Amino acid sequence: LEVSAPRRIRALDPDVVNKIAAGEIIVAPVHALKELIENAVDAGSTSLEVLVKEGGLKLLQITDNGHGIAKEDLPILCERFTTSKLKEFEDLSSIGTYGFRGEALASISHIAHLTVTTKTKDSNCAWRANYDSGKLIPAKPGQSADPKPTAGRQGTQITVEDLFYNVPTRRRAFRSASEEYNKILDVVGRYAVHCEGVAFSCKKHGEAGTTISTQSNASTLDKIRQIHGSAVANEMIEFTSSDERWGYKARGWTTNANYHVKRTTLLLFINHRSVDSTNIRKAIEQTYSTFLPKGGHPFTYISLEIDPQRVDVNVHPTKREVNFLNEDEIIEKVCGDIRVKLANVDVSRTFMTQT
Ligand code: ADP
Ligand code: MG
Repeated sequence: LEVSAPRRIRALDPDVVNKIAAGEIIVAPVHALKELIENAVDAGSTSLEVLVKEGGLKLLQITDNGHGIAKEDLPILCERFTTSKLKEFEDLSSIGTYGFRGEALASISHIAHLTVTTKTKDSNCAWRANYDSGKLIPAKPGQSADPKPTAGRQGTQITVEDLFYNVPTRRRAFRSASEEYNKILDVVGRYAVHCEGVAFSCKKHGEAGTTISTQSNASTLDKIRQIHGSAVANEMIEFTSSDERWGYKARGWTTNANYHVKRTTLLLFINHRSVDSTNIRKAIEQTYSTFLPKGGHPFTYISLEIDPQRVDVNVHPTKREVNFLNEDEIIEKVCGDIRVKLANVDVSRTFMTQT
């Protein structure tokens, strides 16, 4: 039997590596948007405006009024692993901000046309910079790549155009712009409910009105009402839960036994990051099963704050998954506290469903 010679092993071109990495973090426009929202919140913004064209594939623009970016930092802004939020590996265990890997803007610049306009408090003008594959590029061929002075208010505007323009297989995988827009609305809605003191708006390019609009001074319940409607908001109860042994505290709003729908809505934040957790979702559904008719599900918003030393956020670059110690105990305690609230609020209902 003849065996052919092995193919030689070669290092991939760094550009290819970066494009692959980018495609892992950003699978759909909503993933880019989530990173941009988190950056804006990290920058201390109290107002955050999102503009979307073709489900974010044509245009994704987010304008904030945060502290801005120093002009001197613009040349390295979109390089991989450049961040203002982490210096030592040890910092990972006490990280207070959303970002920390310095990968989001770099990734976006590899798979989209990226423009950044930013102004700090101390600068007397705003600066605009264009990026491709991590590097500053000229706005038009023949011009200099240096950031250009421009008029603008304090804060940062990030414009992402033609996402996946150079990843044609990914680009073709999107069937409908409205499906992508719905995912975007879902994420903007989550952060709008959660972020205290931050006004959010989200609109489609070319449309007069906004799809989401919340004020910075609105209460959590007001924001739930604005985004999800009165049918939900009128039936909500507030809860808190904490235990020093497991190093956590939680607060949230959840529907009472008068409300039920076909599918659970769970707005879950762990240390102020929107995440999903099958375990928490299942436990909530289990908790409600004795209070709701068969097939009925609740609407629940939970903000869970866990001692950063007990949380591992470094599971995956997307940070969509978060591991923490004593997960079972924490979930059991939170659901127990919700159960007590539900029983108190609607004793008659509980009685009825149990007989
Ligand atoms: P990370 O958030 O992990 O640090 P990013 O690539 O998301 O990495 O951002 C890189 C850096 O750019 C941030 O550390 C921050 O200093 C700066 N930055 C990004 N977006 C904003 C913004 N909207 N306002 C102010 N600074 C920003
Ligand atoms: Mg970030």
